[in-house]
Amino acid sequence: MNRNTGALHGKTSKWIWLSAFVLLQISSLLSIFFLYTKGTADVYLTFSIGIVLIYWLGPRMLFLMYLNALVNCYFWGHESILSWPVFAIPETLFFLISWLLFVKVSKGKFWVPDLNHLVKFLVMGIAIPLSVYMILLKYLLAYFGELDLTEIWSSIFASWLGDFMPTIIVSLPMLIYLSKPFFKLLRWTPPGEGFINPKIGKRPAAELIITFLFILLLTISIDFVKYWYVYALISLVIAVRHGFGPTALVNLFILLAVYFFPAIVFRQTANLYFSQSELVEIYMGTNLLALFSIVCGRVISDYRLAQQSIREQMEKVEKINTELDRFVYSVSHDLVAPLKSIKGLTNLLKKDQNELNSADYILRIEDSADKLDEFIHEILDYSRSSRLELTSKEIDLEKLINLNIDNHKFIQGFEHITFDLSQLEQKQIRTDEMRLKIIVNNLLSNAIKFCKDQENAEIKFSSSLHNGMLQLIIEDTGIGIPEEYQERIFEMFYRASHDQPGSGLGLFIAQEAARKLGGSISVSSREGVGSRFQVEIPQ
Ligand code: ADP
Repeated sequence: MNRNTGALHGKTSKWIWLSAFVLLQISSLLSIFFLYTKGTADVYLTFSIGIVLIYWLGPRMLFLMYLNALVNCYFWGHESILSWPVFAIPETLFFLISWLLFVKVSKGKFWVPDLNHLVKFLVMGIAIPLSVYMILLKYLLAYFGELDLTEIWSSIFASWLGDFMPTIIVSLPMLIYLSKPFFKLLRWTPPGEGFINPKIGKRPAAELIITFLFILLLTISIDFVKYWYVYALISLVIAVRHGFGPTALVNLFILLAVYFFPAIVFRQTANLYFSQSELVEIYMGTNLLALFSIVCGRVISDYRLAQQSIREQMEKVEKINTELDRFVYSVSHDLVAPLKSIKGLTNLLKKDQNELNSADYILRIEDSADKLDEFIHEILDYSRSSRLELTSKEIDLEKLINLNIDNHKFIQGFEHITFDLSQLEQKQIRTDEMRLKIIVNNLLSNAIKFCKDQENAEIKFSSSLHNGMLQLIIEDTGIGIPEEYQERIFEMFYRASHDQPGSGLGLFIAQEAARKLGGSISVSSREGVGSRFQVEIPQ
């Protein structure tokens, strides 16, 4: 398995090199369909593909990019072979600057998770590198006599507009939708926080398909130069309704329908049926179309994400509020009751002159103090577990369980219980030690508490690994839990049996700790037979 810390540190196999080169070549050759003047094309796909490759795989791709640009000098029709190594430089520089400015300097996330990263991508990733590329290329063309010096700036302007839009439109959907599958395929660690793969729901997907068909119909029936704003309207509607990802897809589809479809099916390229001034007009339209709808889609998606996060925060606050209510109620009972009992017993002790009774009073005071102590410990456990950051380390599960059993050995009735650890298959685990201790301690003390008075009491531990999840099972032959209570025992302060002491906090705290670890605890139990608690935590 190839584990690493992201795109820049991963090992690149020869298959990745080869596929990347083939992709670059295909995109470059496809761009020939759109050849406009020597060295320039309407739609230059190599930029989009190259940007995606360099963001995913890092600057080591530059070598391939230079090689690809060199090979393509032939297809682009540059006459002097000696000029090829020079003509290959601007394109390679474009990718280098894009990667440097977007990924390195602005720490841009290439899966474009919010408006901030979209703006960085548009400016640092595309606009600036494209400007440098275009100026350098056009001056080189002029130097080698392939472009008239007087036309240089109008040519830079037209080509810049022509490259800016398709580069964004083709690369964005790939970066949004394919980044995660790509990293997953190579089993590489995600390159940053919030590495998401936006999913399209069934309804938006159906709407998108209808929109695609409609766009095709439009392409055949109306003139793009005059009516480009109709397309703008369509992508704006999609942006408002479905946000960023779908808008990026619709724009890609418009590009396919307007440029690629006629070029590939009818071999009609823009340069055949548009004049230079018409082209600039179209480019302005399509650039604005793409920019407005993409930015609008991103803003809408950000707004929805913010709304969702507020909703989640509200739910959390509500949960905390109900917990607080229960907490206040229970504290008044669990803290006040043993305190009152201690006060009552000390009064009796003061009044009762019979020395024989004193030992009994002291024992009962001790018992109440123990209850207080246990309650305060549980509250502290909960507070620690819910607030402290997760840490992960190698843990010997058997050792941890044995230590925990040892901590319970002074409990009355402990000596009647048999402990069986022979089924611990998975002994070396990796997780947060404090949370694991909380879980094992609470489950074990319950098992001991509810089985110590039974005959042939036995507590069995078993562990195994399933699909990256550790399964730890703690089984006892205790009193069991009536079925109707089993669902509620993980609630805060819920107690299903009142013959044994307890605050009803243990399982709640254990469950919260397991959730913190990304796992859960479940129970199966039969009254009079015993209980089985199954802990699942990711490894
Ligand atoms: P408590 O402090 O009361 O034990 P818990 O949250 O740990 O609180 O457990 C909640 C309830 O679940 C207990 O009151 C008890 O009725 C039931 N329970 C938990 N573990 C067991 C077990 N191993 N055997 C029987 N009943 C159990």
